[in-house]
Amino acid sequence: MIVGVPREIYPGERRVALVPAVLPSLAKVGLEAVVEAGAGAQAGYPDADFASKGAKIVADRSEVFRVSDIVVQVLGHGANDRNGSGDLPLFHRDQVLIGFLRPLGSAQSVQDLAGRGITSFSVELMPRITRAQSMDALSAMATVSGYKAVLLAADTLARFFPMLTTAAGTITPSRVLILGVGVAGLQAIATARRLGAVVSAYDVRPAVKEQVQSLGARFVELPIEVKDAQDARGYATAQDETFYRRQRELLGKVIAENDVVITTAVVPGKKAPILVTKEMVAGMAPGSVLVDLAAERGGNCELTKPGEQVVEHGVTLIGPINLASSVPYHASQMYAKNLATFLLLLVKDGKLQLNMKDEIVRETLVTQGGEVANPRLREMYALPALAPKEEAPK
Ligand code: NAD
Repeated sequence: MIVGVPREIYPGERRVALVPAVLPSLAKVGLEAVVEAGAGAQAGYPDADFASKGAKIVADRSEVFRVSDIVVQVLGHGANDRNGSGDLPLFHRDQVLIGFLRPLGSAQSVQDLAGRGITSFSVELMPRITRAQSMDALSAMATVSGYKAVLLAADTLARFFPMLTTAAGTITPSRVLILGVGVAGLQAIATARRLGAVVSAYDVRPAVKEQVQSLGARFVELPIEVKDAQDARGYATAQDETFYRRQRELLGKVIAENDVVITTAVVPGKKAPILVTKEMVAGMAPGSVLVDLAAERGGNCELTKPGEQVVEHGVTLIGPINLASSVPYHASQMYAKNLATFLLLLVKDGKLQLNMKDEIVRETLVTQGGEVANPRLREMYALPALAPKEEAPK
């Protein structure tokens, strides 16, 4: 079987879906890699390194798609909302695609994949169970974004992060507030602490309090009742507008006390909640910085401009898009490990063997045989339930 690695085409994307180090483990189950020339160059993985681990390097992109049984991408059609659709004609029927596909984002892109007869798997739908942790690409990329968000803030802030005692006087440490303590938020806390800042954090899920404290940060508690803060998958649930209004009223004072605010609050399949209003930005000290990691999902701050850095009321607002791509070497290494582990689950003895009894396979499968195969997506996009497949006679 051949696994194809096309070069990423989303503008500015520097990651690559597989790195040379994972190829030997794939070869063991009969998976050979075909890599588009230059696919890893921007991430620090030259063609020669892929070739030395047994990959065939191919100059023509369409040839990579033509010869592959499985295509792996970082940003596939759907997640690549700029030019991802350009790849659709290159796929052939029953070819497997694995990547970020943003299936909760648009019914059209999911239908496009079904229309091409692609057997597609979305890494965003990976269940949050212990066995799937090493395949969890959302967590891996959130780790990268949480880290980098702090570096962006530190680089932009007009202050030091750490406390310094110098001959020129004592420097007080910066105060950093993290709103939303999932994987990205936890990594942001750890990184800001390593740089010496005084860190506090808030989340709707009370379960994170201990994790925040164990990283040496203060957990901000707001006196509002949260209804069913998290769902069975461990994600935050959406709250009603009364909750969000009250949350904003209470957060205003906390935000004004900080030099840096990093927001990461999202709810799957929904627009990100507004946690920071324009009035709250006006209440921050001039020279403060806000990094909005929810920018791609509409932003947690009312004034965020996705993909831009703007100054409003003297506060720098950074709305990064695709931040994981800015640490491409390690982001690719982590993503490649996620994909390789997943591939080892799907391929046995050189053959694709989809065990639909396995929730990892079942929940990540988006399209198959020309249909949207995922029941959760069918329900979300109001498609009629598929008739159960008849068992083949024994
Ligand atoms: P996420 O990216 O979906 O959301 C980021 C954070 O925003 C979450 O902590 C969420 O509670 C918070 N949030 C949402 N609305 C908010 C609001 N109005 N105000 C404040 N905060 C708000 O989250 P994630 O990084 O995917 O992590 C979610 C949870 O799943 C975490 O507890 C994480 O540890 C857990 N997890 C488990 C596994 C596993 O077991 N395999 C894998 C990954 C993550």
